[in-house]
Amino acid sequence: MKKYYPLFLLAILVSCQGISQEKKSPKKEYTVVKTDAEWKEILSPLAYDVLRHAATERPFSGPLNDNKKKGIYVCGGCQAPLYESQYKFDSGSGWPSFDRGFEENLEYDVDYKIGYPRSELKCNKCGGHLGHMFNDGPRKTTGQRHCINSAALAFIPTNE
Ligand code: FE
Repeated sequence: MKKYYPLFLLAILVSCQGISQEKKSPKKEYTVVKTDAEWKEILSPLAYDVLRHAATERPFSGPLNDNKKKGIYVCGGCQAPLYESQYKFDSGSGWPSFDRGFEENLEYDVDYKIGYPRSELKCNKCGGHLGHMFNDGPRKTTGQRHCINSAALAFIPTNE
């Protein structure tokens, strides 16, 4: 029996590793799940490219970049509330920018698409790509700049 002991230990170690890797797996389960075909059906081609394939719209091209109305910005894919108009600011970047969002509906991920790590923002309900988070936002408030594609959002004006 003694002979097999180290082997037994090794087996435990390997299996534990297997479990911990599973826990770290980036495959997250979202509450809103659709097939690729279903997303294509309900989204505009641009919204589909941005939300489902992390594309970036051209700066100053999105209709919500200059939007100054009062209301709520929701996910263009699943309508989860993401941002409030009062936290939108003009960053001059050409993309709608916010200094904070509804944290419970935002997921922070890391992408290496352009060679260095950037904090990617996703919808926490459907996993849709929204944009990126930078730390060069307004210093007087949060210092955060949530740089969001207009195409990833829908706007619901507040009735005044
Ligand atoms: Fe969503």
